[in-house]
Amino acid sequence: MTHHIPDFPELQFGSIYCIGRNYAKHAKELKNEVPSEPVVFLKPRSSLIFNGDSIKIPNSSKNVHHEVEMVILIGKTVKNISEQEALESIKAVGVGLDMTARDIQSQAKLKGLPWTLAKGLNTFAPLGNLIEYHPGIDLTDLNITVSVNGEVRQTGNTSDMLFPVVRLISYLSQHFTLTPGDMIYTGTPEGVSKVEKGDLIKASLGEGLSSLQVHVS
Ligand code: ZN
Repeated sequence: MTHHIPDFPELQFGSIYCIGRNYAKHAKELKNEVPSEPVVFLKPRSSLIFNGDSIKIPNSSKNVHHEVEMVILIGKTVKNISEQEALESIKAVGVGLDMTARDIQSQAKLKGLPWTLAKGLNTFAPLGNLIEYHPGIDLTDLNITVSVNGEVRQTGNTSDMLFPVVRLISYLSQHFTLTPGDMIYTGTPEGVSKVEKGDLIKASLGEGLSSLQVHVS
């Protein structure tokens, strides 16, 4: 298995950081508190799939949800950086899905256990095409949407993020050394819902900036 990033073959995929509860209305729909600091979890690299691939519903879950998210690709090694320095560490941006076995996650939350089994299963990190970042892309004002079988399920705008991208990168860099190839799934707006075998999922970010199409099997 190659770990090279399709749009940037000079880079290999690194760690996959994910941010939970980063849109107030989504936190509310799952009856969670709005956090005062970013909520961070990780997915393994084996969860990544790409355009044209299939999300596999595991036997362990009866309630797998889509969460459409803006994804940031890191292009520099950074540690303890400020929000002002954060933009320079971004290599690219795209759309992704943070697939979630909601029933497994709910059990984990009840017991105070980690979310890894709910979030990190095989095929649970679909990733669309990545577009090289430049200052003309306003990361704080991008529309994000996902449809299932042609029906729009989630629409949002990155302006509604509780912690904007520069804050997330700065925050993560206080705790982890970020390196080229690392990615950040930046959280989802409201409207998460269940997917079924046979569904066709289409997601997009910005006006044609990045798109993703995957099946569920
Ligand atoms: Zn998410």
